[in-house]
Amino acid sequence: MLTADIIVVGAGPAGCSAAWDLTANGLRVLLLDRAEFPRKKTCAGGLTVKAVRALRYSIAPVIQRTVCDLSVSCRMRNQKRFKGIHPICHMIERSAFDYFCLKKTVAAGARFSVVKRIDQIVESDRRVSVITDRGVIRARFLIGADGAHSRVRRLTGRFDGYRAGFAVEGIVDCSPSMDLSMGFDFSRVSGGYGWIFPKKNHINVGLYSLKADVKIDRQDLVDYVVQRIGRPVPTRITGFPLGMGGWRYRPGRGRVLLVGDAAGLVDPLLGEGLYHAIISGQKAAAAIADAMGTGKDACKTYANGLVPIQRDLLFAHAASAAFYKLPKIGYLLLVSPPARIALMGGFSKGMPLLDIFRHGYRFWFGMPLPANGKQNCF
Ligand SMILES: Cc1cc2nc3c(=O)[nH]c(=O)nc-3n(C[C@H](O)[C@H](O)[C@H](O)COP(=O)(O)OP(=O)(O)OC[C@H]3O[C@@H](n4cnc5c(N)ncnc54)[C@H](O)[C@@H]3O)c2cc1C
Repeated sequence: MLTADIIVVGAGPAGCSAAWDLTANGLRVLLLDRAEFPRKKTCAGGLTVKAVRALRYSIAPVIQRTVCDLSVSCRMRNQKRFKGIHPICHMIERSAFDYFCLKKTVAAGARFSVVKRIDQIVESDRRVSVITDRGVIRARFLIGADGAHSRVRRLTGRFDGYRAGFAVEGIVDCSPSMDLSMGFDFSRVSGGYGWIFPKKNHINVGLYSLKADVKIDRQDLVDYVVQRIGRPVPTRITGFPLGMGGWRYRPGRGRVLLVGDAAGLVDPLLGEGLYHAIISGQKAAAAIADAMGTGKDACKTYANGLVPIQRDLLFAHAASAAFYKLPKIGYLLLVSPPARIALMGGFSKGMPLLDIFRHGYRFWFGMPLPANGKQNCF
């Protein structure tokens, strides 16, 4: 029988971030994934400045392009380009990025193992047992970092308020002469947008909706690409859900914590999930390390750690409901000079959405940003 201090199921950004921090605290971590790495992950690979800052190590070797400009449109009309002087987003390819993070985590001391099936999770007062195709694995705590379809979430019955968005992506080859700003075409689909994310030798294109009942298929993506960049069929088209509703997630009691998409922590306004995956993994790790050192309740500590993330998600939830209900008005506000300056300034400073809303006016008036404190998380 295998044992560890902590089992982390899922070796994506949330799982690796948790495992890295736990290992740094001297704990024995077993990281499980059903896939051999490198593996394909459906994702546009836009890593915001705040996400890059949250990581514990440099990811310079896997950054394919850094973008400063943003182009936006509403229903494919009235396109505007926001010119920036500082980076607002770094472009990566998920298979390379995730493999890089896994190698860093294993180098830090975590063990990695492939399990094809998880059949059961049994919690007791002192430990948690995971019954897999490779036998029983026991640990003091379990972190469910296994993404939108989380098996850990389903087996443990945690988190009723989970819901899913959906996105389809593909790639188009690009030549250096093409216009390569990062683009969002809002309301190209109901409750979402089309995107154009330039990488080194290709463009990642896709369609996202926060509404699970909106059907987006291969043909929708082909039509979007032809209309947006006048190119033929994108290749490697795949779709995948995004975990949402995380502002309602309560870790409850026990020895199982959910992080990242498993906990529904994707921002519904923009579909950004990597930042919250990384920091929720780190917060779960801190809560468990604290519990193992002091005997405190890990779920309670984790719940407190999630508060700033959940405030941000709740704000994004309210903003997305208004923005996608009245897209023309929302878009006019978005492209107004004060909002544009606040957004570009906030993104380049690595500020979460709620902080941009609260303090973005400071960019417009040339005022300094408040120092780090309880009220904000940048
Ligand atoms: C099309 C698309 C585009 C996106 N673009 C962006 C973007 O540009 N920027 C951004 O910030 N976010 C984006 N997102 C969201 C982002 O991909 C997710 O929020 C992020 O991957 C969540 O990380 P995670 O570690 O929680 O889960 P994942 O990255 O999904 O990792 C979960 C891991 O768990 C493993 N796993 C799953 N089930 C099991 C099991 N039963 N047993 C063992 N292992 C298992 C998987 O193999 C995987 O390695 C996009 C999502 C989609 C679908």
